[in-house]
Amino acid sequence: MPKLNLNRLPMPRQDPKARVRNFNEVALGYSAEQAQAEASRCIQCPKRPCTEGCPVEVDIPGFILAVREGNMPEAVKRLKDKNSLPGISGRVCPQETQCEAACTLAKKGAPIAIGRLERYVADWERANMQSASSLPAQPAPSGKRVAVVGSGPAGLTAAADLAKLGHSVTIFEALHVAGGVLMYGIPEFRLPKDIVQAEVDYVASLGVKVELDSVIGKLVTIDELLNNDYHAVFLGTGAGLPRFLNIPGENLNGIYSANEFLTRVNLMKAYRFPEYDTPVKVGRRVAVIGGGNVAMDSARCALRLGAEVVYIVYRRSEAEMPARREEAENAMEEGIQFKLLTNPKRMLGNEQNWVVGMECYKMELGEPDESGRSRPITKAGSEFIIDVDVVIVALGTRPNPLIAQTTEGLEITRWGTVVADEEMGKTVKDKVWAGGDIVTGAATVISAMGAGKRAAGDIDSYLRGQDT
Ligand SMILES: Cc1cc2nc3c(=O)[nH]c(=O)nc-3n(C[C@H](O)[C@H](O)[C@H](O)COP(=O)(O)OP(=O)(O)OC[C@H]3O[C@@H](n4cnc5c(N)ncnc54)[C@H](O)[C@@H]3O)c2cc1C
Repeated sequence: MPKLNLNRLPMPRQDPKARVRNFNEVALGYSAEQAQAEASRCIQCPKRPCTEGCPVEVDIPGFILAVREGNMPEAVKRLKDKNSLPGISGRVCPQETQCEAACTLAKKGAPIAIGRLERYVADWERANMQSASSLPAQPAPSGKRVAVVGSGPAGLTAAADLAKLGHSVTIFEALHVAGGVLMYGIPEFRLPKDIVQAEVDYVASLGVKVELDSVIGKLVTIDELLNNDYHAVFLGTGAGLPRFLNIPGENLNGIYSANEFLTRVNLMKAYRFPEYDTPVKVGRRVAVIGGGNVAMDSARCALRLGAEVVYIVYRRSEAEMPARREEAENAMEEGIQFKLLTNPKRMLGNEQNWVVGMECYKMELGEPDESGRSRPITKAGSEFIIDVDVVIVALGTRPNPLIAQTTEGLEITRWGTVVADEEMGKTVKDKVWAGGDIVTGAATVISAMGAGKRAAGDIDSYLRGQDT
């Protein structure tokens, strides 16, 4: 057996001092030499545990071998055969808990940097290939029409796979741009918007129609789609409704939901105000409540927008923080201050009703709760005040109730999510499938893509079964 190379190549990144002053991408990507060196570490296990660990079943050893051999068009083909959004997933997918966790070299602490290689291949394609040259062979038209509601990773993946199978697909998107959270939530410095747009354009080039500014449930209902034109519907409307703390003072001026803050900054380009019309108030001292990716993104945006001090206020300890490790480390490196085991009690305002402070409790950890994480317990008499000008609440989201309220026959959980078969995404309503955050609640890009892919396969079987 050849000697294992455990020298995992780090990702080149912008220097922290420079990057907190710009919105350019933090991770700079591998060079051709670095990509080939990293690809050469892959031992090409016959059992392919990495592919088994990938929710969209990418031929990971195959595309890595092609990179190693310098056959980049083949690497692109192998990757895009299963994944229509590789530039996105290569950047934001939590590979450390998926494909890379399953990698044989992970046992030695140095899994192949699969995500970085995936990003390298996607970026190489964009720079070097005409988009038409990576299109799959034109399928025979099935004569069936599918409506996909929502253009996040679940909807885009379902639409791409259905189009590749010969169905006529229309995506209906409520916003004025397609991409879902990839466009309005995740900041430019983690996921540049021209990359999201290029991958949305790729999906469109497969023949998928994208109808923007189309709020389903207002413009038309799901039943109207089914009665009029469409043989099946896939719901990929995500979980875009923010949760709040429900504590005194939460309605003061200067307190945002992370959704509003990030939408202003990313989708409406407030970071380029006044070149773009949308302003955003940041102030000198910003507190972000929460410990997930959304909290890290909000904090890092606030810092880049000129805040002097940015706190992450989280009620558990660092070990329980749900953010990707890499992103929490990036935030710490940039100077975000972590106030752990801390929970807000009430917001304090001035006479003009602007927030000026936050009274907090100190917390300690108890026995694990139903989430499996240690339960945070309030320490009596531990109250203290943090001075702030802006507070951003990043405590998670739930689905917008519009689809549930306007669609007869769907089963909805008490959290507002749609009940769907875990494997195939079929809902209890005839001809309607669902996947992504609308089913799971706020989760990950790759789990949404996996759900879109599996539902597309099941919709295809259903539509073909109708012809027999
Ligand atoms: C700030 C932030 C950072 C994140 N970082 C990461 C990360 O690093 N890695 C990771 O894996 N995951 C991350 N996530 C989570 C990930 O982005 C989501 O799990 C994923 O986008 C869910 O995909 P989706 O397709 O289900 O829904 P979404 O991406 O939410 O897309 C749903 C789309 O449906 C549209 N829509 C909603 N209602 C209607 C309607 N009635 N009619 C028409 N259209 C409608 C919405 O406008 C939206 O465009 C992050 C999330 C946020 C908010």
